[in-house]
Amino acid sequence: MSDRIVTTYSMWSLFRNCRKACDWRYVKELVPIKRDHNLSFGSLIHECLEKWHRNRDLSVVLDHIDRSFLGRSSDEGQKADWHLATAMMRSYAERYPAEDFDVVFLEKTFEGKIINPATGAMSRSFVLAGKVDGIVCIDGKFYLLEHKTASQMDGDYLERLWTDFQITLYAHYVEQVFGIKITGIIYNILVKARLKPGKGETEAEFEVRRADLLAKSKTGKTTATRKMPESDADFQDRLIAKYAEPGMFHRETLYISRDQFETLQADLWELTQQFLDCRRRGVFYSNTSYCFFHHRPCAYFALCRSGGSENVIENFYEHKTPHEELRDDDTGEESPAF
Ligand code: SF4
Repeated sequence: MSDRIVTTYSMWSLFRNCRKACDWRYVKELVPIKRDHNLSFGSLIHECLEKWHRNRDLSVVLDHIDRSFLGRSSDEGQKADWHLATAMMRSYAERYPAEDFDVVFLEKTFEGKIINPATGAMSRSFVLAGKVDGIVCIDGKFYLLEHKTASQMDGDYLERLWTDFQITLYAHYVEQVFGIKITGIIYNILVKARLKPGKGETEAEFEVRRADLLAKSKTGKTTATRKMPESDADFQDRLIAKYAEPGMFHRETLYISRDQFETLQADLWELTQQFLDCRRRGVFYSNTSYCFFHHRPCAYFALCRSGGSENVIENFYEHKTPHEELRDDDTGEESPAF
C-alpha cells in the first residue's frame, strides 16, 4: 500500500468541514507557527498517560512534566500548565491505583485500506492511517482506550461522545488490521481544573482596602494585612483538593454499533472521491461558516483574510509534513484548523 497517499481521520474531517482549510494543511502543508495552547496541553497529558499506563511509575510521569516546562520559573503560562499537569497526574495516580483492565497495546498505529462500498475494490489513491491511545482487555474482551482532556464534563459532553465517529472508524480498522474484535470504547476523561493561583494585592490595593475597612470600623482600627500571592505549594494543594472532588475524572464505556461501520466506510469513500475531484480541478472552496466554529478563529483565518498573502505565510506559518500524530515521538492529535 506504500504507493498510496496516507490519510488520517483528521484530514478527512477537515476536508468535510472546510475544503480550503484542508488545502492549506494537507496540500500546501502549512501550519501556524504558534501552536494552539489547548492542543499542546492535551498532547502532554496523552504522553503522561502513556508513560503512566506503561509502567505505573509516577516519578517518571512527573519528571516528564518537569522537563516539559523548563522555563516555568520565569514564564507564567508554563508555570500554570506545570501546576495543572502535575496536580492532574498526581491525582490520576491516586484515583486509579489499580485498573480493571489489562493493557494490550499503547499508542498503537495502524494503516488500512479504503474500500469502494459499491465494488469492494480498494482505493488506488489513499489508505487510512491512525493511532489509538490504547487497546485493553477486560474478561477476554477487547476495548479501545481513548483519553480525553475536557474543559468541563456534563451530560451534554457524555451525550456527544456518540458522535465521535473517529474512534468508531478506528475500531473498525483495528479489527481489520490486527484481527482483534473490539467490543467497545473506554473513554478516559480528565477534566481541566479552572483554578487560578491567588495573585495577592499590591501595596496600593492594600492601602485602598485598608482605608475602606477603617472607614467602616467603629473602633477606628483594623487588623487587616496585605494579601500576598499564593505560594506554589499552597496552590498545588488547592488543585489536588479540587481533583479529589467527584467529576474530575470519569470513565465512560460505549459499545460499538457495527451498523455504523458500513456508513462510515461509505462516507469515507465519498470524501476520497470529492478530494480527487478538488485536486484535479485545483478548487478547494471556503466554508466561511466554519471560520469561528469553536468560538475562536480558525488557524488559517489570517491566511484566508489576506487572500493567501506570501507575507502572512512567511511571518505566521511554517511548512510541516502532515500526520505528525502518526510519528512514534508524537502522541498528541494533529492540530485541527479549529
Ligand atoms: S478561515 Fe474560514 S474559510 Fe479559511 S480555511 Fe478557515 S474555516 Fe476555511
